[in-house]
Amino acid sequence: MFTLSKAFPVGHTVAKRWYKVLAIETSCDDTCVAILDRKSSIEPPRTIVHLKETLNSASAGGIIPTKAHLHHQQQIGPVTHRALQSAGMPNIDLVCVTRGPGMPGSLSGGLDFAKGLAVAWKKPFVGVHHMLGHLLIPRMLNNGQNPRFPFVSLLVSGGHTVLVLSRSCVDHEILCDTLDIAVGDSLDKCGREIGIRGNMIAKEMEKFINQEPLQLNVPMQLPNPLRNKSTRVDVQAFSFAPFITALKGNLTKPLSEYQVHEVRSMAYQMQEAIFHHIVTKLKLVIRLNKEKFEGVSSFVLSGGVGANARLRNLLETEFGDTFDNFCYPPLELCSDNAIMIGWAGIELFEKHCLTTDLQATPVRKWPLTHLLEVPCWDSTK
Ligand code: AMP
Ligand code: ZN
Repeated sequence: MFTLSKAFPVGHTVAKRWYKVLAIETSCDDTCVAILDRKSSIEPPRTIVHLKETLNSASAGGIIPTKAHLHHQQQIGPVTHRALQSAGMPNIDLVCVTRGPGMPGSLSGGLDFAKGLAVAWKKPFVGVHHMLGHLLIPRMLNNGQNPRFPFVSLLVSGGHTVLVLSRSCVDHEILCDTLDIAVGDSLDKCGREIGIRGNMIAKEMEKFINQEPLQLNVPMQLPNPLRNKSTRVDVQAFSFAPFITALKGNLTKPLSEYQVHEVRSMAYQMQEAIFHHIVTKLKLVIRLNKEKFEGVSSFVLSGGVGANARLRNLLETEFGDTFDNFCYPPLELCSDNAIMIGWAGIELFEKHCLTTDLQATPVRKWPLTHLLEVPCWDSTK
């Protein structure tokens, strides 16, 4: 049976060279490969190389699962080859790969390839939960010391919007989830409605809003979903689909008849309304779960939408009294990447002695709360 201490002995002294990790992420539309050098247990791993090939979906209006599957099948070989070459063809000791949640076709593109490498190299592999990658990545910068458990994370991406309380790498409680679509999806769809284009429309929308001083000259009626009413109180959930319907209702003439500054005004108000909804629900969850927040001093914001400066600023303003420490991954590690999968794999491997057995298949729906309750974990603890 494989154990960390047998495989990569460090003892009480720090080894000069400990182990190298190849990490793969293919849960959505990015084929990402990273090689990390875990030089020692007392310093953060060094990223030797990180490559990303994104499926171009700008004209398709969204990600088409079959196209994403094909993209990963085509890209995973060449991208991994390029990564290994640019790292000087190192010996890899551990393979980490996203196992779920996500589109099975996309996931299998990376997972099957990773299993093949693990077999060929006779090395262990870890099938990582994608959201665990987003959640743990801020800890990589200081080698797992900060944020300390327990901490709270708001994971805001194209596929998820969850508030998570983490007590360890493997113990997570979802405090708030979305009832319909994710915040990134909603921002992207709203942006598309008002003519913004690109692979990450919400990112382009943030740039567009900040390009020129704002003139708030198109007043809009926008919702704050799941608000209290006589038949429904204190719903601890997000809902982002109503913003798309509301935006359509606010368009009183063809888009081409709006001036650019009017479109900018609409984009700003949409973004504000969506972020305001997040703030409203966070306040509610904190108020109703006071005991769970005791001892929690760090707040992590991660996932692609976490790159948004306005959202960061709003959260610090609104929750500066609740949390001492706001943690953000570097901008390039907010959206999907393989480095976060490598780091989450390292944490699972080192702290919990977990690897994954070769029969593992993609897990399409995999709640973070059930991290260890899927088949094929191997624990040597
Ligand atoms: P992920 O699913 O974590 O890769 O994140 C992708 C999502 O993040 C997409 O919906 C992007 O449009 C969104 N996103 C990326 N950058 C930003 C930004 N600066 N502001 C708002 N949303 C963003
Ligand atoms: Zn993601």
